[in-house]
Amino acid sequence: MKVLVINCGSSSLKYQLIDMDNNNVLANGVAERIGLEDGILTHKQPGKDNVVFNENMPTHKEALQILVKALVDKEYGVISSLDEISAIGHRITTGGEKYNESIKATDEVIEGLKECSELAPLHIPGQVMGLLGCKEVFPGKEMVCVFDTSFHRTIPKQAYMYPIPYEYYEKYSIRKYGFHGISHQFVSQKVAELMNKDVKDLKVIVCHLGNGASISAVNKGECIENSMGFTPLDGLEMGTRSGSIDPSVIPFLCEKENKTPKEVEDILNKESGLLGVSGVSSDFRDITDAMEKGNERAKLAFDIFVYRVKTTIGAYTAAMNGVDCIAFTGGIGENSTDVRAAILKDMEFFGIDFDEEANNVRGKAQFITKPSSKTTCMVVPTNEELMIAKETINILK
Ligand code: AMP
Repeated sequence: MKVLVINCGSSSLKYQLIDMDNNNVLANGVAERIGLEDGILTHKQPGKDNVVFNENMPTHKEALQILVKALVDKEYGVISSLDEISAIGHRITTGGEKYNESIKATDEVIEGLKECSELAPLHIPGQVMGLLGCKEVFPGKEMVCVFDTSFHRTIPKQAYMYPIPYEYYEKYSIRKYGFHGISHQFVSQKVAELMNKDVKDLKVIVCHLGNGASISAVNKGECIENSMGFTPLDGLEMGTRSGSIDPSVIPFLCEKENKTPKEVEDILNKESGLLGVSGVSSDFRDITDAMEKGNERAKLAFDIFVYRVKTTIGAYTAAMNGVDCIAFTGGIGENSTDVRAAILKDMEFFGIDFDEEANNVRGKAQFITKPSSKTTCMVVPTNEELMIAKETINILK
């Protein structure tokens, strides 16, 4: 059984075709600059050269048409016809309060998603375009929406409510939703597998540290906290996002800099985080390179990042009354030995006996604490596409 996984952004479309009999990726790729000039789609197949299509793609539909051409091509294709694709799983950033579980992508659901776009205006419109495009390019094919917020549906009310007048929750559904749920779910399940335990017997903290970053507390397989909030701007320091700040900063900046709230929100989303503090880059590798050359602001950006992760781990350990495993994933969490070492240093109180040698690993599942460590720490590469494909099959069963 083969499942196609689609992950749309406003001007991009990532895809992966997975053979669910053995979890192998048959082909994957990304279409970029959708709706702009100089569109490009890069199609990859394990063990073969990449195929690049330089074609303009006015909408996501044209990107899907090129993707179909690539998948069934006589020379480099991986399937002989679209009939071989059993279903399509779509990654959707948020279902708000309307959809808190994966669901079949019927016309009614696609229409309903438009209501959620206020909560993720940068993401949902592109994802709806992807769904509508697929309906045309793959007529009759079963499709499922898998939400980045679903895994967080078990967060209890005292954790997801903000202490503001209750009527704003009732009127506008203002609350914490949490994000990156597909990754947090995949990693927490993988942790149990690697520890050879039932996830129901574990308290796990998952640190998804990438360009966007969030931490989840997963108690007995259920998520009870996530550091992102109403939107993905909350929580940790990120590539260009500020994470949590005192809300009073916003009107203060509006007045001092003569800006609108929307303009200040843009600064918090696009010009803050590692980039804003360092003035160097939003990319973690550039930050560590600059640090090594003595750039003090890059060092400060690094230190803020580490401090926020550490204090969030502390808070979530308190929320679960303990922690059995802390897992690192995402581009930074999987690859930066420095950041993991800095986070886990001076954490003996948490029962962490860090193994520096084992920590010297990139992009591969590995324990990074000594066997005697009371709390286990590990690197677990995430696989959101596989999680989406599995959810897609579950829903269609
Ligand atoms: P993601 O959003 O999960 O793709 O992660 C992107 C982030 O991972 C960027 O900030 C990259 O600089 C960072 N990253 C990727 N590889 C490495 C590496 N080898 N060392 C440190 N950071 C890395």
